Amino acid sequence: MDGTLLKLSPSSARDFKSCPQLFKYRAVDRLPEPVSSAQAKGSLVHSVLQRIFLEPPETRTQERAEELLTRLWNEVDDDAEVRPTELDPVDEAKWFAESMRLLRNYFRLEDPRGLSASKLEWWVEYELPDIHLRGIIDRLEERDDGSWILTDYKTGRVPSTQRELAAFFGLRFYALVCWRAFGIIPAQIRLVYLSDPSVLTLDPHERMLVAFEKQMQALGRAIRRAHDTEDWRPSPSPLCMHCSFQPHCPAWSENP
Ligand code: SF4
Repeated sequence: MDGTLLKLSPSSARDFKSCPQLFKYRAVDRLPEPVSSAQAKGSLVHSVLQRIFLEPPETRTQERAEELLTRLWNEVDDDAEVRPTELDPVDEAKWFAESMRLLRNYFRLEDPRGLSASKLEWWVEYELPDIHLRGIIDRLEERDDGSWILTDYKTGRVPSTQRELAAFFGLRFYALVCWRAFGIIPAQIRLVYLSDPSVLTLDPHERMLVAFEKQMQALGRAIRRAHDTEDWRPSPSPLCMHCSFQPHCPAWSENP
């Protein structure tokens, strides 16, 4: 990080906000992590939803998506980078059934035959004075009037009403990058939740994005301070129960 731009994606920004020590393990030390079943499920379903939009509109059916899911899983079956760690055959059957359920739920929300995606898994980036924002947007649609809609698929739980704005963190991040990099504020950002099928939407505006940009700059300063002082304070929370770094974490070794 010395002398270079700090690179930040929505997930690394979220890591630092929730636990600086977790950010250090992931973004600075780059320690390897096992692939959790939730991550693997998310990656697989995302891949199918990307590929279904590469098909001609008339073949973007649920049956075709189910075929793609089975085929993709067979392709990555022995790929340690993608396959969930420690999954026995019984768990794997349940895991696959749950992935299929998520995919079927997608078709309760949208009919991709009537949609036109301009970009899929779109890499975007923008450099602010001290910080490089970057990441991948699941889907961009351009309307006839030139306005943009950004969509992010979610395989986790639908947030409570109080946590809805926080759930839009990643898409507000991408709306800011779109605005700064391409001069377009997306007309709408959408979270498509597949677990309990529902769609949340938010219409970004300039004031919102200016405030978000200030938040990112403050976050960048906080990360640099932590780096310069070597003070990556652990922040124990319920997240620790799912953190693969717990055995290394000072918060847990001091208070076993
Ligand atoms: S175990 Fe908890 S406190 Fe430690 S790095 Fe993980 S999330 Fe942070």
